[in-house]
Amino acid sequence: MVNSQKDCQSQDEANAVVLPRTVGKLETEEENKVMKTCYFCQGEVINKRIRHVHHWGDEIIIFENVPAEVCTQCGEAYFSPEVLQMMDKATLERIPPAKSIAVPVFSLP
Ligand SMILES: [Zn+2]
Repeated sequence: MVNSQKDCQSQDEANAVVLPRTVGKLETEEENKVMKTCYFCQGEVINKRIRHVHHWGDEIIIFENVPAEVCTQCGEAYFSPEVLQMMDKATLERIPPAKSIAVPVFSLP
C-alpha cells in the first residue's frame, strides 16, 4: 500500500476536472473485510470507495469511486499501486473526464 495523502494545497483559481469514467455510487461505503491496521494510528482499516481530491499545480482533479483502504479512526486513505497508477495516468494523459464541475474559490484578506 502507498500513502498518497501527500499533495500540498494550491492557491489561486483552480480548474476543477473530474476524471473517473466509471458509473457507480459516489462516496459510498463498500465495506468488506478488514485488511490491516492504520500505519499512523493502528486504527481499523476497511475497504471502501472514496472521493480523492488530487492537487496538480493550480488544478484540482477529483477522482470518484476510488477503491481505497481507509482508517476508520483517523481517515487516512491508502491506495494500491494499481489505483495510484490509474490516477497518475488519467492526470498525465488528460483523458476526457466523466464530467467537470465549477469550484468556488475564496481569498481571505
Ligand atoms: Zn488511522
